Amino acid sequence: MHAMRLIRPGEQLIMADLADPDPEPGQVRVRVSACGVCRTDLHVVDGELPDPKLPLIPGHEIVGRVDRLSPGVDTLRIGQRVGIPWLGFTCSVCPYCTRGQENLCDRPLFTGYTRDGGYATHAVADARFVFPLPAEGDDVATAPLLCAGLIGWRSLRIAGDGKKLGLYGFGAAAHIIAQVAHWQGRQIFAFTRPGDAGAQDFARSLGASWAGASDQSPPEALDCAIIFAPVGALVPAALQAVRKGGRVVCAGIHMSDIPRFAYRLLWEERQIVSVANLTRDDAREFFGIVAQAGIITEPVAYPLAQANEALGDLRSGRLQGAAVLVP
Ligand SMILES: [Zn+2]
Ligand SMILES: [Zn+2]
Repeated sequence: MHAMRLIRPGEQLIMADLADPDPEPGQVRVRVSACGVCRTDLHVVDGELPDPKLPLIPGHEIVGRVDRLSPGVDTLRIGQRVGIPWLGFTCSVCPYCTRGQENLCDRPLFTGYTRDGGYATHAVADARFVFPLPAEGDDVATAPLLCAGLIGWRSLRIAGDGKKLGLYGFGAAAHIIAQVAHWQGRQIFAFTRPGDAGAQDFARSLGASWAGASDQSPPEALDCAIIFAPVGALVPAALQAVRKGGRVVCAGIHMSDIPRFAYRLLWEERQIVSVANLTRDDAREFFGIVAQAGIITEPVAYPLAQANEALGDLRSGRLQGAAVLVP
């Protein structure tokens, strides 16, 4: 198989020819047809997350077809169209797993971080964490749903059911979740980098009723806000934008430091909460509403060999929508 591998954090990925992986007991092998490029991949490649597997094949928004089953796997079949997300394994016995919080498992494995992912022609995965997808569908357009969509969905649920929703950072996750929130009848306020008129127009085209710069105040107080951009300074900004009792959700795995802020911004029962990973229930729920909500992703396809260019475009903020690698 071919794969783009990270040898050392902070360096470019390198194309490698490797032996086709064999699935171990309980695993399946998938022929990858598309793999999304997530901001978390950037954090891994840039060395901002501790202890990645090395060398590592990044990528955790995988769409493909099952091409080999290990003995005993009877929940999937050869040729089936499937998705592989970030959560790659949980122990099922720790206190978090047993209380329905497998996203917080004490001994998890993450696709494209602590186990190999989908920047490759093939990937192996634990069959219990591989999701059946409809037989027909656009693989490139589906890939961003596997993380941007799933983590966005979990973040939206944790934000609560407030009508006036702020989205800070209008990239891959926000462009999906704005459509879900619009479909739910919420009012969306999109915050982008100051001066990014393109992203603001993009947000309005996906149903945002207001779009502006992250240092602006929205025209009315928000019920809740989700911060997708990895910028700690947005936390006090979002607290300032939400009403009494409002909630601010930090959706990213990594963020720059949150600057000091006055206690009055948190006062009156405003809340700050983070969202970590996903559960399989999140995935089942989210894929259950994708078709009803009429979600259309705006993928930008790159050949697998151009993974470094895709990461570079995401890092620089040049990208609108979601980058997807096609092997
Ligand atoms: Zn566990
Ligand atoms: Zn991701």
